[in-house]
Amino acid sequence: MATQAVLTPQGKDFPQWYQDVVARAELAETGPARGSMVIRPWAWAIWELMQADMDRRIKATGVQNAYFPLFIPMSFLEKEKEHVEGFSPELAVVTHGGGEQLAEPLVVRPTSETVINHLFAKWIQSHRDLPLLINQWANVVRWELRPRLFLRTTEFLWQEGHTAHATYEEAQAETMQALEVYRAFMEETLAVAVVVGEKSAAERFAGADRTYTCEGLMRDGKALQMGTSHNLGHNFARAFDIQYLSADGKREYVATTSWGSTTRMIGAVIMTHGDDHGLRLPPAIAPHQVVLLPLAEGEVARVVDKLAAELRAEGVRAHVDTRFHLSFGRRSVDWELKGAPVRIELGARELDAGQATVVRRDTRAKSPVPLDGAARAARELLEESQRALHAESLAYREARTYPVDDLDEFRERIGGGGFFRMAWCGSAACEQALGEGTGATIRAIVSGDPPAPTCLVDGAPSTHAVLVARAY
Ligand SMILES: [Zn+2]
Repeated sequence: MATQAVLTPQGKDFPQWYQDVVARAELAETGPARGSMVIRPWAWAIWELMQADMDRRIKATGVQNAYFPLFIPMSFLEKEKEHVEGFSPELAVVTHGGGEQLAEPLVVRPTSETVINHLFAKWIQSHRDLPLLINQWANVVRWELRPRLFLRTTEFLWQEGHTAHATYEEAQAETMQALEVYRAFMEETLAVAVVVGEKSAAERFAGADRTYTCEGLMRDGKALQMGTSHNLGHNFARAFDIQYLSADGKREYVATTSWGSTTRMIGAVIMTHGDDHGLRLPPAIAPHQVVLLPLAEGEVARVVDKLAAELRAEGVRAHVDTRFHLSFGRRSVDWELKGAPVRIELGARELDAGQATVVRRDTRAKSPVPLDGAARAARELLEESQRALHAESLAYREARTYPVDDLDEFRERIGGGGFFRMAWCGSAACEQALGEGTGATIRAIVSGDPPAPTCLVDGAPSTHAVLVARAY
């Protein structure tokens, strides 16, 4: 079958490859308003699977879903000083409604700490009301001057968890638990190996005491922040006066957290697993896990339908591609582009021989299997492919994580991409110096001792091990 190259190779121009995949796999396109995004059915189905899996994990920690308003009075954002300073440049503000100027402008939510904490102040009276564990699935708006589909768009979709606790320590435990939910989801479901760690003060969420992150390494060597979890301490509790009566009758401020993960994770899946032939989807989030391609109508198609029914009965998301007006090669290329993990191809000659061809997308390996064992073979390949994609992502990151103890060496090598592991003294000046001329940032403070006794930049005693990279 003729299969012409339809994508710019990754090695030639990675950003163009990304754009090509998003377009050719029919994932998304730009909307008419600058920075907006249309999510097409294939990507939406991927998002629904991601959402269902994440939602299940979040609820398993005792969190309940709720919904809060899209419009937030401007004065609410101004209550927490760092929060409003951090978000001001990105805000979309409604000044008119129903043909009249509004008495108070309304912000289109960039995040919902303010409105949710306003309600928390009403809902929380006693220590018996704690902890209060809420999650919201919603869209948010952050004005974006350099939009890129899935990675940066003015409007995006996410979940935002918001919790209130009796003590700072409990809030810290919740912050870490949410981070672990993200890490497990990213590794087990998205098959993306991630680094977890704390953000430096400069990269912290506006209004947070501590921010933690999951960072993936994309196939161009750039890091991508995939989810963050914040201990907000008492900052929002003071701003919104969220107090409770403790067991011994004292009024105390609650400690709050927030944590979010977004449609950006679809971008991470594309850039972690995609290859020169298109997307490679981990089976856990593939809308069609097995695509069955009958070469012709008639008996071949009937046998394929039976096979599909057998797979569905076993809980596999199976899809029969009956677009016979398209050539077999074209249909096959289409599913490679879209990243369907396993294909079962059947023609008349194979049917006579009692065989089918099973193709796995991750390795592109094709093998003939007996027809009566085809469903089982496909199921095994799904499990194998989920594991293999994660192993590949992990191996990629490990091969591109470089210990470095010399500033010049770091500056020379940063252009090649990857994580650079180094010792840092904790000073903002050194952090800034790392970025000058390199465009790199501290992605995460990671656990473990500093890899050297002195800071890579200024030679002061080091306090942290950090991973530095260029990032999206
Ligand atoms: Zn330093």
